[in-house]
Amino acid sequence: MKARTFLALLALAVCLGPVASHAQVFWRVSVKVFTDSGGNRPTGRTDAEIQDDYVYYNRLLANYARGCQFSLVEIVQLPSSLSSWYNMQARDGGNTSELRVNATSNTVLYAYQNNMINIYINNSSSGFCCGGGVNGLIFTGNENDHITPVHEIGHMLGLAHTQGCASCGEGCTTPGDDGVSDTIEDLSCWTRDDISQNSFGVNYANGTAAQRDQVDDVFLNIMSYHYGNFNNLLERLTPGQMDRVANTANSTRDNVTGNYFRFVDLSLGNDILFNGLSTSAPFRSIDGAITGSGTDDVLVIRAGTYSKSVAGSWRITANRVLTSRNGTVRLTRTP
Ligand SMILES: [Zn+2]
Repeated sequence: MKARTFLALLALAVCLGPVASHAQVFWRVSVKVFTDSGGNRPTGRTDAEIQDDYVYYNRLLANYARGCQFSLVEIVQLPSSLSSWYNMQARDGGNTSELRVNATSNTVLYAYQNNMINIYINNSSSGFCCGGGVNGLIFTGNENDHITPVHEIGHMLGLAHTQGCASCGEGCTTPGDDGVSDTIEDLSCWTRDDISQNSFGVNYANGTAAQRDQVDDVFLNIMSYHYGNFNNLLERLTPGQMDRVANTANSTRDNVTGNYFRFVDLSLGNDILFNGLSTSAPFRSIDGAITGSGTDDVLVIRAGTYSKSVAGSWRITANRVLTSRNGTVRLTRTP
């Protein structure tokens, strides 16, 4: 290895190596950038510009207060020998499937990682996820400063579109089910008034504050198709969507996930029978969750008052992250 190459790799490792703030759930992300026949990347897709996007995505995740983030492990510039992919349409199931077959059968050339979310960027637009196989992949165009990559990661982590199907232009004119209880019905061609009328029978401006918030939860949702109007103002994921993300990260996407979400539920939980790894198998007590979970796992606690069963102060005897699932969590000293 030439000294310059070694130094370049060292610099990359310094810039992108896993950071110390992994004391929570994180998802390893490996970004690959296709180049043209001259070895040039799409404009706006330098390492710094891609890193900047993930700073923004992590700020969105921080807003949801679920103790999770993306860990952008590496950005790999692919060789010009793969330039036939440079202008291929990314929002195409056939192209994405072909890329997945090639990448998983030639993991060195395509820099494919079995334990990371693999994101391939080219010079087209929009994106597609995820395909079968062990790990799948995400194929996006040049989505600089755009929500598309995190939308596709949302699919990888178990989320459907808020409309439950594709776009109105593709024949999806009946609201489908996204499988999440706190998102109301949506269609890609609906306005705020359409969404509000469908669920509440009033125009958006005439709804209560709570109703308008529910409309905005889908109209400004990362998993909606309303980005034709709002681009990066799509910044919302609901608690129900984050529950689904946690269930998926803990199970089928365990290979790209560091640490676990552990649900705690005062009324439905059981410290003996359950391990907290899904919404349907929560711990009952915070003590039980701390005892039964691992270092830096995130306790996702359903709102309520959790009393200390033994008189005395709370003592946390291991490193854990505590978050609220859906409202105020109160720890009290006496039963
Ligand atoms: Zn989508």
